[in-house]
Amino acid sequence: MEGLMITGKTKILGIIGDPVEHSKSPLLHNFISVFKNIDMVYVPFRVEKNNLSAAINGLRALNVIGFNVTVPHKNNVIQYLDKVSEEAELMGAVNTVKNVDGVLYGYNTDGEGFLRDFKEETGQSFKGKKVVIIGAGGAARAITVKVVLEGAQNIIILNRTEDKAKALSDYINEKLRNCSCYRGMGNNEVKNEIKECEIIINTTSVGMHPEIDKSPINSDGFFTERHIVYDIIYNPLKTKLLEAAEAKGCKTVNGLGMLFYQGIYAYEKWNDIVFSKDEIELFFKRFKEIVITS
Ligand code: NAP
Repeated sequence: MEGLMITGKTKILGIIGDPVEHSKSPLLHNFISVFKNIDMVYVPFRVEKNNLSAAINGLRALNVIGFNVTVPHKNNVIQYLDKVSEEAELMGAVNTVKNVDGVLYGYNTDGEGFLRDFKEETGQSFKGKKVVIIGAGGAARAITVKVVLEGAQNIIILNRTEDKAKALSDYINEKLRNCSCYRGMGNNEVKNEIKECEIIINTTSVGMHPEIDKSPINSDGFFTERHIVYDIIYNPLKTKLLEAAEAKGCKTVNGLGMLFYQGIYAYEKWNDIVFSKDEIELFFKRFKEIVITS
């Protein structure tokens, strides 16, 4: 396979965020373009909060094919787009924009990416399940919306700031289905509720590098073999939370697959293609190697 060759016809993709230097997305997308022999290059654009409007105008004027959006722009970008998918609207966040003849379409592939990885890794669905979501930020909202749309029976949102957990829970009950409740971190009921649920998802940044010795919950006595514990953090690959869950015999999954599949779905949208199962397997294997060595 030859390397990336930029020509007069090369199309541009990118990611806007601040910071953006840590992003693994350029590695993933450029690898796919080279592998598939698609004449596209994907570049990082560091865009400060107060430059978002100018950046979107610029990307539109430069006629880029599309771009990803990361922290802190996932919510604010919506106001500058022409159309936003129903799911992204519900999630209140866009992470993927496609430019079709100057019309900017916004999508959210985080929820889709999470769900695909969850199903691939566990072989299970959310239908009829009791789920505890730890966290009430942007990722929590995207994942909670997706999990409820997938038919989860009951959702408990557990967050350090109880008001934010309440706001997310109320939002779900009003917009989607009356299936959600909330708890603050210190709530005594939580231990029993976690024992009764089937799936626990950490959407907080607690345990992420460099604070790898922290865990969002003190999991002593919480986990049993019947639990699935999914931590959307991917740096480190095995967080303190996953380590504790693994020791109790739970099925554990880290956030690398979510990151991978949100990127795959974005690439498919930009190019109107659907990758085969074999291609996806190969890309994921390569992506893991890239992440470990980068
Ligand atoms: P966010 O909107 O800022 O939300 C952060 C969440 O973490 C909030 O619930 C916050 O609680 C909680 N939190 C932060 N510091 C805490 C602490 N010291 N103690 C207890 N809770 C704390 O961020 P986000 O966009 O949802 O992202 C959250 C994490 O998900 C990040 O680590 C991000 O890298 C990861 N992520 C991974 C993927 C993937 O593809 N794998 C995709 C998106 C995000 P409060 O409300 O109390 O502040």
